[in-house]
Amino acid sequence: MKITIGKHAGYCWGVKRSYKKLLEAAADESNDKPIVTLGPLIHNPQTIERLEEDHQIGYTDDAESVGTDTRVAVRTHGVKPQVVQEMEARGVEVLDLTCPLVRVIQVRAEKFYKRGYHVVIVGSAKHPEIISITGYVPDGEWSVVESLADIEKVEPNGKPIGVVCQSTHMIEFVEQVVEALKQRFGGVVEVEFKNTICFVTTERQEETKWLAEVTDAIIVVGGKESSNTEKLKKTALECGATHVVKIEDASELDVSEFRGKAHLGLLAGASTPKWVIDEVVEKIRNEVGEAVEVEDLTESKERKTKEAALDREFE
Ligand code: SF4
Repeated sequence: MKITIGKHAGYCWGVKRSYKKLLEAAADESNDKPIVTLGPLIHNPQTIERLEEDHQIGYTDDAESVGTDTRVAVRTHGVKPQVVQEMEARGVEVLDLTCPLVRVIQVRAEKFYKRGYHVVIVGSAKHPEIISITGYVPDGEWSVVESLADIEKVEPNGKPIGVVCQSTHMIEFVEQVVEALKQRFGGVVEVEFKNTICFVTTERQEETKWLAEVTDAIIVVGGKESSNTEKLKKTALECGATHVVKIEDASELDVSEFRGKAHLGLLAGASTPKWVIDEVVEKIRNEVGEAVEVEDLTESKERKTKEAALDREFE
């Protein structure tokens, strides 16, 4: 059996950056205040557990309850600026770990608003990234579109429409939304779209299509709350993969379903740690009862070069 681990499987660049900066802050001997993150740092229970157990970094959903004796880290998905302002006004030390590529979306939405646009944000209304973006545009000047039906609720009041989207969304759906907006409002107001899907998402989706073609079955590893992991499963199925299984970790994997398969593809969401992926591979090696060849593309030179360039750009 051969297992191919996708090039972009596991922590994306933005998650690695937030995690590293969080641990650096926790290890800073000149500051002994404990740290909590505002909401879980990422959507992965194993990572959150490890932060608590090994580094004593917990999380809270209630910014107002945090006192000045504690540092607060803003999660990778960002937070509304008003939340940070409120904490800083009370003297709470805030560590901003928002992914710079999420920050690009926040800035883009704000720019659309300042130029007089009504802002349409395509994404899941309850996702923390989308909630953070809405904080950059006054209420009444933005609409979140989760489904095509939501387009009926968009009321630009004669203003042009500026569209941005969640960093992990599927471009095919976003383009459908833009098209539907043009059909409803085109000729009356301008509809301008800025593609804010992050490059990791785009490349991971491409890779999923490729693995769906060249493998006999696909295992997707990721947290139950992770929307980008769910989208990987959906993409794999849409691209013709006939056997796709989504699991949170090795304990959920039933290796017997893959006996007789010559080639397995292994994908993982942006918030899945590499050690969780490695445990899945180890379980297959131990139970499959034949020689297993592992092709691990996460170590590719191309991925490392790109991540190093982003580190330099956003340092
Ligand atoms: S998926 Fe993209 S935008 Fe989201 S945290 Fe990762 S690098 Fe940043």
